[in-house]
Amino acid sequence: MSNRVIDFRSDTATRPSALMYEAMQEAPLGDDCKGDDPSVNLLQERVADLTGKEAALFFPSGTMSNCAALLTHCGRGDEYIVGETYHTYKYEGGGASALGGIFAHTLPVRDDGALALDDIRGAIRPDDAVYARSALLALENPTDGRPLSVETLAAMAGVARDGGLATHLDGARLYNASVALDTDLRDFAGHFESVSMCLSKGLGAPVGSVLSGGRDFIRECVRWRRKLGGGMRQAGVVAACGLVALDETPPLLAADHARARRLARELSDLAASLDAGRLKVADTATNMVFVYPREVSDFTGLVERARDSGIRIGGRDNFFRFVLHRDLGDDDVTHLLAIFSEYFNI
Ligand SMILES: *Cc1c(COP(=O)(O)O)cnc(C)c1O
Repeated sequence: MSNRVIDFRSDTATRPSALMYEAMQEAPLGDDCKGDDPSVNLLQERVADLTGKEAALFFPSGTMSNCAALLTHCGRGDEYIVGETYHTYKYEGGGASALGGIFAHTLPVRDDGALALDDIRGAIRPDDAVYARSALLALENPTDGRPLSVETLAAMAGVARDGGLATHLDGARLYNASVALDTDLRDFAGHFESVSMCLSKGLGAPVGSVLSGGRDFIRECVRWRRKLGGGMRQAGVVAACGLVALDETPPLLAADHARARRLARELSDLAASLDAGRLKVADTATNMVFVYPREVSDFTGLVERARDSGIRIGGRDNFFRFVLHRDLGDDDVTHLLAIFSEYFNI
């Protein structure tokens, strides 16, 4: 493809595959606000089955899916416990607070991406009118590329359940965790009342997320989705891409992870030949590589240098986040590594 963009900024950059375009043309459609879209219904049944839940609901975005889950689990003035770097707290525009009057009780996130059990225990308020009511623990897996094991998730969810809280998992890239840890989606999902999964991230569909949970929970979420403006009418045209993504992409994820490991390894070698601390490379277990340059000028310099040779890279403030996905291959990783070598004169 001549107009191909080499984009390492996010796995949201993937273009629909040939089979996705075909599926869009052929998908049976109906008005999903009336529950009449066969493609949406099929996708919802499929994801409910994959996650071992009674029901599932299609959303235009993971942000809306998480928000509907929070609004359903929590009432006005209730508190949810969440990691201070997790997406539901940090990158969703404060929607749960703005729309639901829900209060976030944030906790520090450990190096492995988990929350400390004692921190969760300590954050659950006693049943006393002076406090906000603790209603929910919201976790994330993987978080910034780090996959959490079922045992780690179960321990955290167990503390919440013992305290009478509901549990939600933001599994935007749960398939990546599933492949990285060779763990069935159901084994992760089994410890949570609700699980949100993006089709538009590592799975490579252009749009959409699916929230799974119990039948009554999902019925309430349909009401919130309506209020949020997330009823999409003939949404089967995009749900069809999601169905193809669920078939096509999981077998490709191991290769994304291997490319991420190679990128991390070769960037580490490169960092070792520079001044100590000029470039720090984090370990990687899924499709993301985090690199921390000491100088902000190296960050901006490299972003510009890469753009000049047709590669989009980015991050936030002063770190790079390289995300591997189905539209990037070995040659693209080689190309990116060459830009780094050239920039640092190696
Ligand atoms: C992308 C993402 C979301 C939200 O998905 P959108 O579809 O972009 O709204 C939620 N959680 C995590 C961890 C994400 O990476």
